[in-house]
Amino acid sequence: MTIKFSYPDVSNHPDFDGHETVLKAEDPSIGFKAFIAVHSTVMGPARGGCRYWPNYINENDALSDVLRLSRGMTYKTTMAGLPYGGGKTVIMGPKGTTNPSPEIMRALGHMLNELDGIYETGEDVGTRTSDFKIAGEVTQHVRVRAVERAGQVDLPGGPPLYTAHGVYCGIRSAAKEKFGTDVLHGLRIGVKGLGNVAWPLCEMLHRDGATLTVADIDAIKVKAAEEKFGAAPAKPEDIIFETLDIYTPCALGGDINDKTITGIQAAVIAGAANNQLEHPMHSLMLHKKGILYAPDYVINAGGVINVVMIGLNHDEMMQHVRIIGKTLDEVFERSRLKNQDTATTADEIVQERLTAASNAKRLVNGS
Ligand code: NAD
Repeated sequence: MTIKFSYPDVSNHPDFDGHETVLKAEDPSIGFKAFIAVHSTVMGPARGGCRYWPNYINENDALSDVLRLSRGMTYKTTMAGLPYGGGKTVIMGPKGTTNPSPEIMRALGHMLNELDGIYETGEDVGTRTSDFKIAGEVTQHVRVRAVERAGQVDLPGGPPLYTAHGVYCGIRSAAKEKFGTDVLHGLRIGVKGLGNVAWPLCEMLHRDGATLTVADIDAIKVKAAEEKFGAAPAKPEDIIFETLDIYTPCALGGDINDKTITGIQAAVIAGAANNQLEHPMHSLMLHKKGILYAPDYVINAGGVINVVMIGLNHDEMMQHVRIIGKTLDEVFERSRLKNQDTATTADEIVQERLTAASNAKRLVNGS
């Protein structure tokens, strides 16, 4: 195995955004080509998953993806008050493959060693825990090894349960801001997607007496929600337009776009899905319509908290996740006072936290 490492200069890349390090590694003899982007270690060593994707059009496509995703991780960890920064890995898998070979995972392990512990990775799209056990034969810098070192097993329920709890706390924060009370009893909440996050979330909302409308492309899940929560069914493409107090997207991203935005009746949008806005300007459009939007990376950080805070028990994890409600209180208050949309406001808070931490570090180091 001969892996070639390089640190490409990406300072002129449109997605650069001040990245600290970008490492490229390749070994054509085993079909290995990957990028690791470390956006920020200001808050602590970087964390972020490893994506295996055989369908990148070219290297620039993979590079844009890794840069955007690693920046996103910094924003998520910083906003969640975690002592970690943001990074990401993308492996450009050979065409026609779906999972990495053991050789590729060992090569990734060597690549992680090259970064000397500033970044640790784990499962994401296209990679499994078993893949990281293989990488862990040659490196310590994979989450599965960190869990072993801590003598822990992962908590039952896993990331989706904590994501659901974070979204629940976020919905209450949004309700308080919009309706003056965080009591959900009697509120009409529309949940799109009934997957691993949405199901425990529906349990929490139902327990609080919310009136649920639900949609999923899987009719069996919808039927089960009708029976268990007395939920009203809606069509997946129509639920966003229902007469609701709160719309809770928990399926795929891109729900808020030029076509849907004019027809939204809900006063609040607060859900788990990633990339809910098709374009950042949609946050401003929601603000102008008087719809309160809980920025996705703030409200859905419960899973990341669960993944990186190795060693906490269930109660401690739930306690940590509750911070999401308080953070959203801060976002909503500042947004109201500045008459500024919530996504811009959240980004501003992250940037201020990073600047403050970076200045404090400089003072300590005397530079
Ligand atoms: P999941 O795959 O378990 O559930 C997704 C559900 O959405 C499925 O039931 C699926 O049938 C349904 N669905 C797919 N397309 C749909 C459509 N067009 N209309 C209606 N329903 C549709 O996923 P999940 O883990 O529950 O995650 C849900 C969302 O939350 C995703 O966007 C994910 O990126 C995001 N998220 C998840 C976590 C986590 O901890 N799992 C953390 C942060 C963000």
